[in-house]
This record gives sequence, structure tokens and C-alpha cells, in this order.
Amino acid sequence: MTVENKVVLVTGAGSGIGRAAALAFARGGAKVAVLDQAAASADDTVAQITADGGEAVALQGDVSRPDDMEAIVQAVVRRFGRLDCAFNNAGIGAGRIGAAPMKIAEMPLETWDRILAVNLTGVWLSMKYEIAQMQKQGTGGAIVNTASIAALIGIPTASAYVASKHGVLGLTKSVALEYAAQDIRVNAVCPGYIVTAMTDDLSEERARQIAAKVPMGRMGTPEEIADLVVWLCSAQASYVTGAGFTADGGMTTG
Ligand code: NAD
Repeated sequence: MTVENKVVLVTGAGSGIGRAAALAFARGGAKVAVLDQAAASADDTVAQITADGGEAVALQGDVSRPDDMEAIVQAVVRRFGRLDCAFNNAGIGAGRIGAAPMKIAEMPLETWDRILAVNLTGVWLSMKYEIAQMQKQGTGGAIVNTASIAALIGIPTASAYVASKHGVLGLTKSVALEYAAQDIRVNAVCPGYIVTAMTDDLSEERARQIAAKVPMGRMGTPEEIADLVVWLCSAQASYVTGAGFTADGGMTTG
């Protein structure tokens, strides 16, 4: 998979799927901008990449803030001279903001607002500034957004998360059409349940119930999503745009 010498921005790269993708891009020879809201986590990812002989820079910012995202893209260009690829992956579930799973009648508006701000507006803002930079360069680009199986099905007590992820998939398709002629490819990944900090919140019992619903009989690993993301950004995926790729061990197939 050819990502050698590509400049890649990964959001939410301080943990889980984002970190695994940042490491995979670096192993493929890309220069990686590691963005996370948690500065220490971004630093840790960069330390792992440089220990491995790769090249990376840590950046701190909140994807839901327009000023942060504009400044982040500028910082990537200052450091590496350009931006070729982006993995817009930062996202949160209710647990991350201290909210319990809840039906809509009980859900506070603040929970809805924050989940939509990070998961959907964050991807919109990321693409807005990334694509402006790619257009300036005039040599195309590749973007992957993290949706979820929650972009494909409903999940009771997770309406805000599900709405945000359905939104990410719709946004991906529309923006792919807007820039296809300029060779800026935009795709989404739809992971099933993946072992990360996000699913650490699940009780052992719930984790067992989920695994039992997966035809492959287990949750996925962040690395299994990372490989798909690197492929989507590589020259090998040159005719792929506007698509959502499910990686869920068969969970939503039957
Ligand atoms: P994670 O919690 O391990 O990692 C998310 C990272 O994003 C963290 O480092 C966090 O600090 C960062 N982050 C959160 N809000 C941010 C913000 N506003 N700005 C910048 N960084 C921010 O979780 P993960 O499981 O690796 O999740 C990554 C993505 O994958 C999310 O979009 C999530 O919705 C999606 N996803 C996860 C699963 C799963 O089962 N783990 C399944 C489907 C989709």
C-alpha cells in the first residue's frame, strides 16, 4: 500500500483506532500529524512512531472548534509543507461526557449537542479546511471519515450517536461528489465493536453479549480498522470514492 512520503493528518490519534492508524501510516512511510484533544495522548502516539523510526508531529486541538481546525491544517502545512490525506476519526460516545445511555425523552439537550458537535460538526470542519488546502495544492487528496455500524442501523438509548454517524456517512457521500472531479477522494469506514477506550466502558456481561452477536464471535481490533484506512488513502484505492466500508465481523450482515 503506497502512502510513502504522503503527509497525513489523523484526528483523535491519541488513542484507539486513531492511534493504530497513525502508527500504520507511519510504518507505510507517511509523515503523520497526530491530533488529539488530549495533548499527552498525542505526545505518546508520536513517541511510539519516532521510536519505530517514523516521522510525526503532535498537535493539540478540539475538532468541534473552527479556529482549532483552521490552525491545525495550517500547522501541518508549516511543518510538512502540504497535506495529502486525512483520517477524520475523533469521536465520542455518551460515556465520554459522563452521560448514561438514555432514551430521547430523558436525554439532556447538552448530551445531544456535544455528541453532534464532535462527531458530525467535527468531521465537517475537518474536511472544510483540509479540502481548501488540497485544492490549493491542486494534486488531489484522500480523506477517510470514521462512521460506525451506527451509521447503518438504529441503536436504542444511543440516538445522538446514531444520528451523528448517519450524518457522517451522508456528509462523506456528498463531499465525495463535490470534489470527485478534482481527484479528492472521500470515503468512510463503519467499524463494528472495536476494543478501545470507548468499549472499555462496557460491562463484561455486555461485552460478552455483543461478541455473541458477531458472526465472527469477537470484537475487532483497532489495527483491523487501521489497515482498511491506510488502503483507502493509498494509490491502490485510486478509483474508490463516496463509499462506506463496513468492518464488523459480519454483525450487520444477517
Ligand atoms: P477512543 O476513545 O479510544 O479514541 C478517541 C480519541 O479521540 C481520544 O484520544 C480522544 O481524546 C479524542 N477526541 C475526543 N474528542 C475529541 C475532540 N473534540 N477533538 C479532538 N480529539 C478528540 O475511541 P475509539 O474507539 O478509537 O474511537 C475512534 C472513532 O471510532 C470514533 O469516531 C468512534 O465513534 C468510532 N467508532 C468506534 C467504535 C468502537 O467500538 N470502539 C466503533 C465504531 C466507531
